[in-house]
Amino acid sequence: MTQMTEARLREQELILLVPIPMAPPLRSVNSYILRGDEGVTIIDPGPRTPESEEQWREVWSQHSLSPREVTRIIVTHHHPDHYGLAGWLQELTGAAVLMSPRAFAEAELMWGANSQMEAALPEWFRQHGMPESWCEQLPLHLYGFRSQVTPAPKVTFIQEGEAISMGGRVWHAIETAGHAPGHLSFYDASDKRLICGDAILPQISPNIGFLPGSDPQPLRSFLDSLVKLRAYEVEWAYPGHRHPFDYFAERISQLLQHHEERLQRIESLLRQQLHNGFEMCAALFGTELGIHQMRFAMSETLAHLVELVRQGRAREYTTGSGPHTNTLYQLK
Ligand SMILES: [Zn+2]
Ligand SMILES: [Zn+2]
Repeated sequence: MTQMTEARLREQELILLVPIPMAPPLRSVNSYILRGDEGVTIIDPGPRTPESEEQWREVWSQHSLSPREVTRIIVTHHHPDHYGLAGWLQELTGAAVLMSPRAFAEAELMWGANSQMEAALPEWFRQHGMPESWCEQLPLHLYGFRSQVTPAPKVTFIQEGEAISMGGRVWHAIETAGHAPGHLSFYDASDKRLICGDAILPQISPNIGFLPGSDPQPLRSFLDSLVKLRAYEVEWAYPGHRHPFDYFAERISQLLQHHEERLQRIESLLRQQLHNGFEMCAALFGTELGIHQMRFAMSETLAHLVELVRQGRAREYTTGSGPHTNTLYQLK
């Protein structure tokens, strides 16, 4: 039996996977629908766009579901492709929206009334050597996500370890950071299944990004999270993108190795006298990127540099002051 056939059988039995369209390169995010005595639960409704709203209208008719049957919307983490439609769907269904307190704080940091991110991120990247031609695109780029996360939902908090009934099973919330602070996965110990959002993805490596005001050591958090999740026996993992997969432990090993290899690559670039974050980013990812991909590349590079410093493998120092501050790196 192929992986997908097996996955489809399991979805019909317990978990319905609904692909919701989103912008390239990912193109779709997995929403999961679980039906049980407690009602219908939707996990990660997707970003708010006209296409995704249309997709939900099709879901109701295709799966003979009424929005009024939905009692809970669970958001694994605050990224727009997962959290964005929660408020819209809450208005439509009257359902409770559940997420972790830390994930909610991150949504506020990005899009809350007092968010400074549209100014803070370009300032941060500038300090790490990003040319003005890129930095000046960031405020509008970030502003563009606001329509994908509006309206904000009224949130009910769930905590690490909390048990929650979905689709006739009891699932426990597991909190991990790294890809997104406060990210929750849900583990069903009886069937050894994990709904894992973007904590672990098959094929692609979840973005680990440094953002001002957020987790100061995101790669360390992610590596710790991989070790934490490795302790669970998982037969089937249901990720936020791509297909359900049955090689969870192996995937964790690959991701640990991937990040160590990238740390070593950055060490070798430092040996070649590259000094600032943007030079390193350009060497790793190139510069033929749109602003969205460049933002991910730059924050991923900085997350690795911060981790090299933490591990005592590199040193960070600054020159200049105020808006002319430059942060540079060298090997220890
Ligand atoms: Zn994400
Ligand atoms: Zn995602």
